[in-house]
Amino acid sequence: MYFTSVSLCVPLPCSDLTHLSYLNEPGILHVLRHRYGGDTVYTTAGPVLVAVNPFKAVPLYGPEAARHYSRRGSEEAADSYEPHVFLTADQAYKQMVALNQSQSVLITGESGAGKTESTKKMMKYLAALAGGTGMEDRVLQTNPILEAFGNAKTIHNNNSSRFGKLIGNICGALTHTYLLEKSRVAHQQAGERSYHIFYQLCRGASDEERQLYLLPPAADLASFAYLSGSGCTTIADMDDAAEFGRVKRALAAVGIAPEQQRGLFALLAAVLWLGNVRFAALHEDAVEVEAGSMGAVGAAAALLGCGEAALVAALTTRRMLAGGERITRELNMEAALDNRDALAKAIYATLFKWLVEQARINAALAVGKQQSETTLSILDIYGFEQFQENSFEQLCINYANERLQQQFSKHMFRLEQEVYESEGIDWAHVEFTDNQAGRKARPPAGVGILSMLDEECMMPRGSDATFAAKLQQHHGGHPRFAYNTKAPAADFTVQHYAGPVTYSAAKFLDKNRDTLSKDLVALLQASSAPLVQRLAAEMERGQERRGSQTVGARFRDQLRDLIQRLDATALHFVRCIKPNSQQVAGAFGAPLVLHQLRCCGVLEVARIARAGYPTRHLHHEFAARYKVLLPELGPGPLPPGISALDVCRQLLAHFDVDASQYRIGRTRLFFRAGMLGQLEDAAARMQ
Ligand code: ADP
Ligand code: MG
Repeated sequence: MYFTSVSLCVPLPCSDLTHLSYLNEPGILHVLRHRYGGDTVYTTAGPVLVAVNPFKAVPLYGPEAARHYSRRGSEEAADSYEPHVFLTADQAYKQMVALNQSQSVLITGESGAGKTESTKKMMKYLAALAGGTGMEDRVLQTNPILEAFGNAKTIHNNNSSRFGKLIGNICGALTHTYLLEKSRVAHQQAGERSYHIFYQLCRGASDEERQLYLLPPAADLASFAYLSGSGCTTIADMDDAAEFGRVKRALAAVGIAPEQQRGLFALLAAVLWLGNVRFAALHEDAVEVEAGSMGAVGAAAALLGCGEAALVAALTTRRMLAGGERITRELNMEAALDNRDALAKAIYATLFKWLVEQARINAALAVGKQQSETTLSILDIYGFEQFQENSFEQLCINYANERLQQQFSKHMFRLEQEVYESEGIDWAHVEFTDNQAGRKARPPAGVGILSMLDEECMMPRGSDATFAAKLQQHHGGHPRFAYNTKAPAADFTVQHYAGPVTYSAAKFLDKNRDTLSKDLVALLQASSAPLVQRLAAEMERGQERRGSQTVGARFRDQLRDLIQRLDATALHFVRCIKPNSQQVAGAFGAPLVLHQLRCCGVLEVARIARAGYPTRHLHHEFAARYKVLLPELGPGPLPPGISALDVCRQLLAHFDVDASQYRIGRTRLFFRAGMLGQLEDAAARMQ
């Protein structure tokens, strides 16, 4: 380990991008690449922490590093410390305690950029900082669970979070989760996987557990259609069987009782068996379960605690009221397959929700009365993403990122304003000539699309095709919208803040409506398994609560609520950057990095800074650094009666620095970009 506290005490040159003498794109890239090469993955850009994913273990997170940051006095300036996620977490925590003010840390970046890892490192740091309460274990043990059930391999990230989370008060006692990508349960794109837990269960179950959950031998995992469709069941460097053990220990640690765990795994197995149920067409409008898959039906029914015949009926028919009369309608092939997948997805999504809720309740119990009014939350949301095929889920994810980005710009501008005000510098004299954030922000792309989708869902004859046609009609002329008439499905392209994404409109209406037949809910309600009954009750409550509200509308409400929540707190930003798309160590793709810096607002922060007085030094730092240029002061401490500020003024006079080029604040000197170059050169010559 070559980690030393010395390297952290004295920030390396250019640990803050806004202090660069040459605040331009090549300059910023050069610094980031240089620091990255030395495994210094963190750099600040004013109030923002920039984290470049090292894609390898870097010796930055040991107990020594944690102690180093935690010893920082709450009055001690953070900018005399090397940038680090620990420092960001430390600032948030100490600010919360000192000011009795709620804080949030917003972690953003593309998929695979390192958001979830950063979140975990912060949680670990904070748990230790707030520690001594014995809650750490419970707190940190929620992570393996959330990852097993909510993460999956995508082409962008082997451990991609497929849900958003706001972790409140570290202990998870206030955790909120956002829209899990449930389509993944039934279908994954080539080279991707379903949720980790399925592979963990299939590979890690003991013989006894296999009997209990009706699982085939580990090697036959691909006999499950839901796991074999994408042609990928393994992840390099991931031992699913060993992970299963970890997850079970974590479940126990957060207080999921053994019988609840058994119920949980039985349901996962049931989901897999449901995927193996195939249908044969009786005629155009009716199907029956294929004889060869009656075994799968039997297994699913047994695991769900319901009768086989009841399951077959619920899968192949739908009871409805017609003219006041109860009738049973047969389902055609497409409807039967959709119905089957809807059941599997609903079970999984409800299970996930239940698990999060359970862990949250238990964490809250563990923390008990220590819960205070003020909170510290960390937001780890799914990053902006773009696949070969993009669907409704991607639109929601990208829309959320767009919305958060907008919030970021708003805040940056305000923060900059506050710095000048707290230093007593006349704000009016700082001209933000090139100030993007000050302009009226455009509404995030995606909002009009979701409303139109909702409208289409209300139309009796609405379909994916009519939705796509209406989009073209209304948005065809919009500069950020394009419609591809040549595509086989109805495709449309949205020019997002981080790049264009082409969406296929197929299944948009279904996914937005997200209906589950009452027959399926009734089937689960009649189950003999307690956990299944609970989930069924939750499904029914959910249906009642949302009424006719669509998934898109609910997501939008959640997002609005999130933004309001964030607005009521002091914000801290971490921008994660993915240096290459191969997920390998040591490769720094300049164009890729530049694109992300641009999208995530780091360049904008630099621009705002450049428009004002970006180079800042504490009076005493500045005096100590350049005192050598005033030989009459002599070496050693300042003569009595002369303050650091006096030295600063003398230096400014000595070099005849134009009054428009600097400002003297209460604690700092502020310089226009590039102004310090002359002084640096002179100081270098004298030394
Ligand atoms: P995101 O949540 O932004 O999609 P992750 O946090 O899952 O991305 O990171 C993707 C992968 O990158 C991780 O699985 C890990 O291999 C690597 N990684 C990210 N941050 C770090 C870090 N600080 N140190 C080492 N590896 C990291
Ligand atoms: Mg993640």
